[in-house]
This record gives sequence, structure tokens and C-alpha cells, in this order.
Amino acid sequence: MQGMMMHRDLRIIDILTFAAEAYGDQGIVSACEDGSRHRISYPQVLGRVAQLSHALVAMGVQPGDRIGTLAWNSFRHFELYYGISAIGAVCHTLNLRLPREQLIYMLHHAEDRVLFVDPSLVSLVEGMGDDLPAGIRLIVLCDANDMPESSLDLVCYEDLIAPQPAQYDWPRWPEDTAAGLCYTSGTTGPPKGALYSHRSIVIHAMMVPLGFTNSFHAGRKVLPVVPLFHVNAWGLPYVAPLTGMTMVMPGRHLDGESLYQLMDAEQVWSAWGVPTVWAGVLATIRDKGTPPNGLGDLVVGGAAAAASMIAAYEEMGIYVNHVWGMTEMSPVGTRGIVPSQMADAPLAAQIEEKSCAGRRLFGVEFKIVDDTGAVLPHDGASTGELFVRGNSVIRGYFNNAQASATVMDADGWFGTGDVATIGPDGRLVIRDRAKDLVKSEGEWISSIDLENAALSHSRIKTCAVVAVPHPKWDERPILVAVAASDDHPTLEEIHAHLASDFASWQLPDDLILVEELPMTATGKVSKLKLRQQLAGYILPEMR
Ligand code: AMP
Repeated sequence: MQGMMMHRDLRIIDILTFAAEAYGDQGIVSACEDGSRHRISYPQVLGRVAQLSHALVAMGVQPGDRIGTLAWNSFRHFELYYGISAIGAVCHTLNLRLPREQLIYMLHHAEDRVLFVDPSLVSLVEGMGDDLPAGIRLIVLCDANDMPESSLDLVCYEDLIAPQPAQYDWPRWPEDTAAGLCYTSGTTGPPKGALYSHRSIVIHAMMVPLGFTNSFHAGRKVLPVVPLFHVNAWGLPYVAPLTGMTMVMPGRHLDGESLYQLMDAEQVWSAWGVPTVWAGVLATIRDKGTPPNGLGDLVVGGAAAAASMIAAYEEMGIYVNHVWGMTEMSPVGTRGIVPSQMADAPLAAQIEEKSCAGRRLFGVEFKIVDDTGAVLPHDGASTGELFVRGNSVIRGYFNNAQASATVMDADGWFGTGDVATIGPDGRLVIRDRAKDLVKSEGEWISSIDLENAALSHSRIKTCAVVAVPHPKWDERPILVAVAASDDHPTLEEIHAHLASDFASWQLPDDLILVEELPMTATGKVSKLKLRQQLAGYILPEMR
């Protein structure tokens, strides 16, 4: 027998119309280039989102069209999230830190019809030259005064939306309609797209505050240091208006000092970002001798947060939430908080508890499996690849059946590539990565891509890239290689060789020449043994 309840398709724009009504005094504060801060309320944003929707339709944007964004965190970028999805189009956020070739790949693979660009990033687009998709419209996220000089045919965002009406009777799309697209470069090969729906985004936005009970309080401020181009800033552009919080957008200055000043001036309550960011802020806090005014809650994720850093913040009275997730999971999968039964435990025990990935959010299911696919018990000891399932998890990659087939199992679970244990109480510990990726400042560097490119250098015979822990960047890649002859290559020569295919931050920090690399029984380089051999190795800059 069926239930007798109404069915209303979940719609992203309903989050903003709700916030404009229920939390009309809240909104968005954005750090501007000139050091000032721009303020706008949710009702005002709603009007501008309506104008943007009209402008897009007037430009000929159709439901299902992909619209790219290449931008830092600002109120205009936030408006794109809503104005694009509300007309049934797809907001494709491009990660501006990726190398030129990958950006071009994504623009073409997504078939973006329009690209919204920050003024500071117009030169990046100019550098794409003839590789830009033919006919793509370029719109600069600023007003007429700040329009950059350029050889490109650019339209000013404010001029585009100004003539449009500030109301829109947005249609109701089926809730499975695509709304957002984010590519992950977390594995080898070209980036792969996670295509989120209105349904998955709204459900995720309702799941997150249930897990992070300390972070969300109506009337307080939340700071996404995590970029809007990195998995929808972990959902905050949806969760903040839904929970009545004002968002503080940091723009492009993400160093410890700039973030400290911003948090202090705005009395940010909860701040979200990767461990590298919080290491930078911690150094500034230590310099100043006091944390930013009003800061009470930190959400750290994207890579494992070190216990020492968690402890440093907790000792200042700032509550730390550790989060594990993935682009393919919208992204939040766990909440690394102290379970209620441990509320009175000593601080050291609480910090140890927060150092693991934590417990799953309601709506995300976990299983761990061994190499044969057999499901392992949740006993805290059995180690296997973590698979996930839920309404906020992809069921395949956008237009990439081949990559989809490698991650989905026969029962419809998504394989994360992370190796983990799960305790009987649901405690998830990420032990390692199945693939040997390097994560620097929250961004992936594919070791296999680097190896393949280095191997194309005539004086390298074999090589392997491994990650070395770094106090600021989480990890940095180093290249361990066997030279092809006595004529040894230098690190500078390798850098020059790799420069066209990689961004500078992706290049290895060191080149170590060895007689031979350790191999596995099946004839592959054994990174496990290589890491053991490198125990005690120190990066050049730390020597
Ligand atoms: P991304 O899709 O770029 O967000 O990267 C997702 C991957 O980052 C995961 O599969 C993990 O390997 C890693 N990761 C994210 N959060 C954590 C965490 N808290 N601890 C350890 N690894 C993490």
C-alpha cells in the first residue's frame, strides 16, 4: 500500500526563497580586492538571481546547457549557483588551480556554452587562445568600472543582469534534473565529472547540519575557505542559507594573515577548509597570541587532519570537526566529532577521536571489501576498500562510461579508492589510499601521470613518484628514478620537461637517483617498499 502524502520535487531555488523569507537579515559578506567588504542580504541576492536567470534565458541558454564558472568565492559566484540551476541549466565550477590542458579538456568535455570569469582570471582564459571552445560566451564577474582590458570579447556581469526584472516564476523541474557539475582530477587520466541533481544537492544540504551540530546557528557567520569550485564548497552555499547563517566569502587571499583579519573583523563563528589552510591560520594565531574574535568552530577535511593541529585549536577553545568525503559524494561523508558518550572524556582522548574520519552522516552507507570483493566485518581491524551508497553519491561519471565501470560494483556501490577500517560503533579510519596519489594543499597530484611524463625524458629509465609529508602542503611529490646512462638528468631539466603538462605546484620537489627501484612479484614498482626505503628522508627545503 502506498502512503498518501504529497510529492514535491526538491528544488535548489527553494532554499534561497526560504532564506530570503525566514532569514531576510542574513546574507553574504565578500572580501573585495581593494580591502573593503561588500554586503548583500538574501532577499537582495534573490532579486539578482532572478535577474541572472532572465539574462541567461535571454542569451539563449537552454535547460541542460552547461555553464562554466572560473572564480574565487564571492557573492556573484554564489548567485551563479542559483541563477543557473533555477532555469534547469547546469553550473559547472572549474578548478582554477588545474593546469591549462585540464581546464581546456573540461570546457570541451562539458561543452560549456558560457563561461563566467573573475576579473583576476581573465588572463588565464586569454592564455587558452584558440583552444577555447568555439562560440563560448565570456562574462566577467564585476561591474563596468572593473572590466579588464582584453583582446577577448567580454561581457560585464553587472551590465548583463541590470536591465532584467528582479522576479522570476521559476519552473518546477523533476528533482533528478542535473544542477551542478564538478570534475575530479583525483585519479589518472583526464578529469571525471560528478553531475549533481537538484535532489542530491538539497538532500545533502539537509544531511550536513544534522552531522555538524556545533557549526550551524542562525544569525552567526560561516566562512567557506574551501573554494566554490571544490565540490560546491562542501555544500555551504546551500546549507548556510538553509540554516540562516551569513556567508563570509574570502575572495582570492587565502593566506593565514588575510583569513585571520577577515575572521576577526567579521566575527566568523564557523570556518571550513583543508588542513593546509588551518596550519597557515594557526601560525598567524601564534604570532598574534590570540585567536580571531568570535571563532568557535572549525571544519577540517579534504585530507587527514593531524592530531597536533586539532589539539592546538581545541586548546584555544575552538571546536574542531574533522570531515572525510569526496567529490563523488557531494562531498560530505562523515562527521569527525566526539560521540556524546565521550563528552566528559579527557581532552587527549577526545582529540584522538577527532583525528579519525569519524562516523557516517545519516544517508550515507558504508561497506569495506577485500581484494576479491568479499564484504569485511566492521570490527575495527579488518582493512579493505571503502564503498559508499546514498542519495548524495554518484552512480557514474558524466559522459564517461569507461571510468564509471571502474568505480561502480555490481550491487551499485561506489568504490572510493580509500582503504579503511570501520569499528562496531561505526568509527571510520582511513588507512591509506588505494592509489598512490599525492595531495598538496587539498589538490591532487597524480603520481602515475607524473611518472609517465618523467619517463618520456630520454635520460630516465624507470621512476616512481611518492608523496612525502609536508607540514604546510600536506604532501609533496618527489621523483625517484634510475638514470638511463651515466649522463644524469637534473631536477631543473626534469621540471623543464614536465612544465608544459603540469602546473608548477604539481612538479616534484626533489629527484633522487637510485641504482634500481624495488619491484613487486608481478613486476611493478613497489611503492610500499620504496616508502620504507625512504623512511627518514627530508625534503630539500626542510634540510
Ligand atoms: P576530493 O574528491 O578531491 O575531495 O578527494 C577525496 C579524497 O580525499 C578521499 O577519497 C580521501 O582519500 C581524501 N580525504 C578527504 N578527506 C579526508 C580525511 N578527512 N582524511 C583522510 N583522507 C581524506
